[in-house]
Amino acid sequence: MSERVLPFEQALEEVLTQARSGGSVRGVEVVELLAGAGRVLAAVVVADRDQPAFDRATRDGYAVRSGDVGKALRVAGSVRAGESWSGKALGEGEAIEIMTGAPLPVGADAVVMVEHTALAEETLRVEAGRSLRVGENVVPRGAETLAGNVVLPVGRSLGAAEISVAASCGLAKVQVFARPKVAIIATGDELVELDEPMEAWQIRNSNSYALAALVEAAGGVGLRLAIARDTLGELRAQVAEGREADLLLLSGGVSMGKYDLVEQVLREFRAEFFFTGALIQPGKPIVFGRLPSEKGWTYFFGLPGNPVSAQVCFALFVAPMLRALAGRTEIAPVFVEARLSEGVKGGARVTRFLPAELSGGWDGVGVRVVGWQGSGDVVANARGNGYVVLPAGVEHFPAGLTVRVLLR
Ligand code: AMP
Ligand code: MG
Repeated sequence: MSERVLPFEQALEEVLTQARSGGSVRGVEVVELLAGAGRVLAAVVVADRDQPAFDRATRDGYAVRSGDVGKALRVAGSVRAGESWSGKALGEGEAIEIMTGAPLPVGADAVVMVEHTALAEETLRVEAGRSLRVGENVVPRGAETLAGNVVLPVGRSLGAAEISVAASCGLAKVQVFARPKVAIIATGDELVELDEPMEAWQIRNSNSYALAALVEAAGGVGLRLAIARDTLGELRAQVAEGREADLLLLSGGVSMGKYDLVEQVLREFRAEFFFTGALIQPGKPIVFGRLPSEKGWTYFFGLPGNPVSAQVCFALFVAPMLRALAGRTEIAPVFVEARLSEGVKGGARVTRFLPAELSGGWDGVGVRVVGWQGSGDVVANARGNGYVVLPAGVEHFPAGLTVRVLLR
C-alpha cells in the first residue's frame, strides 16, 4: 500500500469517523458510585422522584401570601429543613417562619427573606416599598426534573456534577462501561527500563509511562508490554500479543530510518492503514490503522518515538479513539481560544502544536509558547499545560493574536 499523509483536519476526521463507527465498548460493569468517578455511564440515570420533591424554600425568611406584603402579619409558627408544616394552611395575614430547604406550607405562595422583614411585638412587617412575586424564593416541586425523566444519558463521563445527580436519585451503584485495555509497546534499541543500569548514550523508556498515564486519564487501562528491540522478531512477537488488547499503541520505529520497522511488521499482520503520516509538527510520522485480531479488528496507532511527539499525537488522535472505546459520546479534542502573550515565528509548512502555558484570569486567557529544544524535550513540555496550534503557512504570529490551544 502506498503512503497516505493527510493534513491535520483530515487525519482527525479519519480518526473520529473510525472511532464513531468502530470504536465499540467491551461490556458493562456495576460499581460503587464513587468508584464510578471518571468512568462512563452504560445506563441512563432516571429521577426516582420529582426534584425538588416539594416546593422548596431557597432562603431563610417567612412563607407568606405574596399579596399580603403591605400588611401587618401574624407569625403562626416555624418550619425548618427536614420538617413539613403540620399546622393548618396559611391564611390571609399570616406568615410562617421558614428555613432554606424546608417545604413551603400549604397556603403560602412565596418566601420573603428575613433580611427584608422586621418583627416587633409578634407582628411581622415586610420592608416598605418591597414587593414579592408569586413563587419568589421558592423552587416549585418538579421544576428541576420530574420523576421518571432521564437526568444523565448513556455515554456521559462521571464527574462530581454527575455523581451528585446520581446520589440525589439514590443510586449507591452505577452501571459503567468496561475500561478498554490498551497495549503499549515501546520500540527502540536505545531504550532501557527504569530499573536497569545504563550507558550515557542510552535513553530511558519514558514513553510507556507517559502513554500509560494518558491512557488512564482518558478512561482506559494501560498494559505496558516489554520493550521491543528494532528487530523483526521482537516486533512481531510484541505486536502479536498487543493486538489482542482493545487498542494497540506503539512508540518509535515509524520514521524513515533504517531501523524503523514498525510499519513493515504491521503490514505483515495484514494491517489496514487509514493514514501513514499527518502534516503536523511534532508528530508527522504517526500511523493509524487496524489489525485483524481474534475479536475482529484492533485499532492501532504507531506514534513517533520522540516523547513530545508521542504525547501530542496522543492528545490529538489517540484520546478521541480511546474515549469512544470507553463508551463516551463526546470524543473530539477540545480547543480553546487564547491570546498570544508573546509573538511567535511562523513559516512552517505543517500545522504546529507547541508546548505552551495557558494562564487564565479575569482579563482573559493568555498563552505563551514554552521555549524548547525540540520534540525530545520532556522537561520543557512539562512546563506547559497545553499545546498552542500554529496553522501552516503563516509567517509570523504577533503578540495579542487569538490562537487555538489544545488542553491537556
Ligand atoms: P524513533 O521514532 O524510533 O526514531 O525515535 C525517535 C527518538 O525518540 C529516539 O531517538 C529516542 O531519543 C526517543 N524515544 C524513542 N522511544 C522512546 C521511549 N520509549 N521513551 C523515551 N524516548 C524515546
Ligand atoms: Mg526508534
